Amino acid sequence: MTSSERSPRELDCVIVGGGAAGLSAAVNMGRMRRRTLLIDERDRFLWRHDIHNLLGFPDGVSATEIRRLGWRHAAKYGVELLIGHVATAAPEGDRFRLTVERLPEGGLFGHLPGPRVPRDPEMARIFGEVPEGAPMEVLARTVILATGVFGHFPEFPGRNECVGRSLFWCIHCDGYESLNRVVGVVGHDDDAVQTALDLLVFTDRVTLVAGRPEGFEVPASRLADLAANGIAAHASAVAEYVNEGGQMKDLVLDDPGRTRIPVEQVYTVRRTTAANGLAKQLGLALNPLGQIVVTSEQHTNVAGVYAAGDATSLHDHQVSAAMHEGNQAACGANYRLYAPAQRALGDAEEC
Ligand SMILES: Cc1cc2nc3c(=O)[nH]c(=O)nc-3n(C[C@H](O)[C@H](O)[C@H](O)COP(=O)(O)OP(=O)(O)OC[C@H]3O[C@@H](n4cnc5c(N)ncnc54)[C@H](O)[C@@H]3O)c2cc1C
Repeated sequence: MTSSERSPRELDCVIVGGGAAGLSAAVNMGRMRRRTLLIDERDRFLWRHDIHNLLGFPDGVSATEIRRLGWRHAAKYGVELLIGHVATAAPEGDRFRLTVERLPEGGLFGHLPGPRVPRDPEMARIFGEVPEGAPMEVLARTVILATGVFGHFPEFPGRNECVGRSLFWCIHCDGYESLNRVVGVVGHDDDAVQTALDLLVFTDRVTLVAGRPEGFEVPASRLADLAANGIAAHASAVAEYVNEGGQMKDLVLDDPGRTRIPVEQVYTVRRTTAANGLAKQLGLALNPLGQIVVTSEQHTNVAGVYAAGDATSLHDHQVSAAMHEGNQAACGANYRLYAPAQRALGDAEEC
């Protein structure tokens, strides 16, 4: 897309979000020869973590590399890629109108938690970006939301270097990397207790810290489970996350003795928040956690709108699930775009 284009583009499908889910949807829409635009607001993936459990990558693969390959893959089938922030989405007749804003020069929008990545002019040149001035408008017959989640790692100096190297949140993703390591878990609720206990599959050196002045919010029986399994539990906040060059070193507790707990890895157990702003604008049903409710074929409650990946409620939040959901969402959107004669006998609109 050239920077001089300002009138609304007419597209078969707009995909919002260029992570594993959005890119998987894009590849499949491109292969079905649909006019597809994928819009993503991060110039690069923010956290520098490696994915170790994705089939086909026995040595692991970085999240950034998956994106790079995904962009190349989608572009091969004619999908247009655009760097920008989708600010609004609304139905208009049998289409959807979306407005897309240019990313600010200084980096990402202030509402996004996580590290700020400066705008990458080279990336913008390759993929195209929203021109300066008024927001760009696009019209699409179908929309796939693949907007992901906001993670909530604690704020501390050196944190961004630690994420994915020695600071984690999910043992399905990174538990194996904790094999025989010294691990601290920070969290006050039953999810945190469960994470600490589940880590015993990988290591017997686990300590739990509540991470807030109010201490734990679990029954005494759960604290007894920890003690019975050799896990020390500290009902304190963390005063300091000591780290160096991406390596966690110590948790210093906010207690009278400033207790220092040596660690090699830390898991912070806090729920993620689904990026659901556009979903709300479109009137999509959300579950109590704010995740987009979808069917097993990624349909939302609004015809023509599909959702995939971490933003949805369907599966565990993993790259493999995001790729599957993106593919499935593309199948749904593609089917909706067929003329009546192309659909299965008796199918009025969608599969
Ligand atoms: C530290 C860490 C380690 C992990 N390890 C693993 C692992 O080992 N194995 C594994 O399978 N999974 C792992 N995961 C989880 C995995 O990264 C996610 O499940 C996967 O990235 C989900 O893909 P997604 O496409 O749904 O969302 P995302 O990858 O988050 O992509 C969503 C995209 O949508 C964009 N977006 C949102 N709103 C807008 C908007 N309004 N306009 C434009 N763009 C927008 C965002 O900028 C983002 O680029 C890990 C996650 C983290 C944070």
